[in-house]
Amino acid sequence: DLSPIPVNRVPDEVRPLVVAFNEMMGRLEENLQAQQRFIAQAAHQMRTPLTGLKTQTELALSETDPVQMRNALQLIAESTDRASHMINQLLILARAEASHEKVHRVVPLDLDDLARSVTGDWVVRALAKRIDLGFEASGRPLLINGVPLLLRELLSNLVDNAIKYTPVGGHVTVRTRAGALAVVEVEDDGIGIPPEERANVFERFYRVLGTDADGSGLGLPIAAEIAELHQARIDLLAGSQGRGSLFRVSFPRYLEGGDGPRSQPPLA
Ligand code: ADP
Repeated sequence: DLSPIPVNRVPDEVRPLVVAFNEMMGRLEENLQAQQRFIAQAAHQMRTPLTGLKTQTELALSETDPVQMRNALQLIAESTDRASHMINQLLILARAEASHEKVHRVVPLDLDDLARSVTGDWVVRALAKRIDLGFEASGRPLLINGVPLLLRELLSNLVDNAIKYTPVGGHVTVRTRAGALAVVEVEDDGIGIPPEERANVFERFYRVLGTDADGSGLGLPIAAEIAELHQARIDLLAGSQGRGSLFRVSFPRYLEGGDGPRSQPPLA
């Protein structure tokens, strides 16, 4: 039972304790409800690809022509990939949440290196879509405290989207900037996100109406969760040419000769 203890029925000396306890229980209850909503949504979202798979399987079973059957099986293979991608993302989200419970190791790392390396991972995909994928480095060491695996996931989701939501022949740029904060930006000149949708796209499972590329609606919520874990903020702006989108992630810098890696890093 998580209901609050009536404050007026306890002795004065323990009242502050009881108030704190009630607050804690309130937060716990909210968390539990959020978890339940998430599980319900996740189960609901998984139904769509599964229903699709079932229909495709029935179609394949009714095919007698070997070529048609092969095509049908090909579709099944693709749908299976999408479903498993979605499950992976759900797992990443759950794991990122678990980092609040100290699962991952925080290390000092160079944001410049990380961004260059993640951009490299997407070169082939960009090429296949004839998208010009560029990397502009700050040219200076850009140390932050972070969990490399999670940060790769964050950046990767942004680059994935930029490529996905930019038509053939478009441009995607990943750039890093050094200032008071360590900044990485992913900019595209694709379909863009209307200003009134910019807050919504960080909600779990949310997809802008009419978005037809494949997706789970989990990429940005994952990015937001990971940013929060790193005490970073994500800003979503229009692309600099007035087209497309610009996602900017700003991290607190790890200062050399300063206080060093925090003795109590945010997620160690
Ligand atoms: P997914 O891409 O799997 O649908 P995300 O959470 O990554 O899920 O993105 C949510 C929605 O935000 C997308 O469905 C799309 O409508 C929109 N979106 C995300 N990134 C971009 C982008 N770079 N350009 C245009 N729209 C985007």
